[in-house]
Amino acid sequence: MKLILLGPPGAGKGTQAKMLVERFAIPQIATGDILRGAVQAGTSLGLQAKGFMDAGALVPDEVVIGIVRERLQEGDCQGGFILDGFPRTVAQADALQATLAGLGRQLDRVVSLTVDAEALVQRLTGRRTCRGCGRGYHVTFDPPRSGESCDACGGELYQRDDDQEATIRRRLSVYAAQTEPLIAYYRQAGLLAELDGMQSIPVVQEQILSALQAG
Ligand code: ADP
Ligand code: ADP
Ligand code: ZN
Repeated sequence: MKLILLGPPGAGKGTQAKMLVERFAIPQIATGDILRGAVQAGTSLGLQAKGFMDAGALVPDEVVIGIVRERLQEGDCQGGFILDGFPRTVAQADALQATLAGLGRQLDRVVSLTVDAEALVQRLTGRRTCRGCGRGYHVTFDPPRSGESCDACGGELYQRDDDQEATIRRRLSVYAAQTEPLIAYYRQAGLLAELDGMQSIPVVQEQILSALQAG
């Protein structure tokens, strides 16, 4: 299964990807997670990316394209992968297409999750993320069982710097301007499954699974 999860910040891509990883035993490639890891580690990639991320802007195409190109060639991607948060521009989508073609591979499906703007803001302001394993939670919609720490690994939960309302609004407008055109792009390629992301987490999961079977 070679899959893209497409949708605005807060649509539920990461949440759904984590479930699909277990189901299909293929890796999640989340460019946001990779970039946050680099910022945390203080690498030159992290230093390059941090200003863009804090501002709610996109990191330059050539930087993220390079990351994904290398990642797709690692052994664990040979049985398939879930791209989460990439591509985010037409240039990234074109580069992905070229990279996969060069490896003799092609995408199976692009799942797009649609969610109202106000619901996105609510989801993102209440999002909490595990420092240990990156799993996402929501203070109201998906709280950890313990109330405090990650159910999966016991890690500490934190609020991302960019999950503040002003930055969230900026990210949503960046999505509308730069990423939304990919819906038409992948519809035209015959790969798109558009799903209602407003439903509960398990219902969205079921819809994704049936869209993948239909593909
Ligand atoms: P969300 O899950 O809320 O959509 P991500 O974790 O995917 O957010 O991304 C966080 C930030 O990392 C983005 O706002 C952007 O600055 C940067 N980023 C992640 N993926 C990409 C990408 N494919 N292209 C450019 N910037 C990216
Ligand atoms: P993305 O990766 O697309 O930015 P996330 O998967 O991190 O989005 O989800 C954003 C927030 O919304 C998280 O706090 C998550 O727990 C919550 N969430 C995800 N899916 C749903 C859903 N279907 N209904 C309600 N809340 C959700
Ligand atoms: Zn965890």
